[in-house]
Amino acid sequence: MSTRKPNPRLAKIHRSYSVEEVARLYGTHRNTVRAWIRAGLPTIDGSRPILIAGRDLGGFLRARRQRNARPCGAGELYCCRCRTPQKPAGNRAVYEPMNATTGNLVGICSTCSAWMNRRVSLANLGAVLGDVAVSLPEAQERIGESHPPSVNCAFK
Ligand SMILES: [Zn+2]
Repeated sequence: MSTRKPNPRLAKIHRSYSVEEVARLYGTHRNTVRAWIRAGLPTIDGSRPILIAGRDLGGFLRARRQRNARPCGAGELYCCRCRTPQKPAGNRAVYEPMNATTGNLVGICSTCSAWMNRRVSLANLGAVLGDVAVSLPEAQERIGESHPPSVNCAFK
């Protein structure tokens, strides 16, 4: 099981962790922890095998989470795979109404081709869309693809 949103509070401030222990703590792979180190997670100087201070680990994950929390701008949908807002491919999205006032904008990530969606209120649709062309559900079949089960990480 991989943890998409590692909880910074799992790391105890006064402990230090090996790569293995961090991986176990977050239910992730050692290679993910090594990627964190390459991405700037500090390690304790000169430690062999590598040790990571709990305080640094918590701080790193907290900063990373804040970076990842960048809100979608106009014309962007949140991509669960890229973990960042992205423009939909072809600048096109489909609006799927959920009720009279709210719906989902669905598009394909222009970077990784994953499905993305964004909950919008109809009143906000214009501001949310930016320069994205939107199709209404009646036109959906013309796109020629069916939708995967809804991805709910965008709704946090
Ligand atoms: Zn993506």
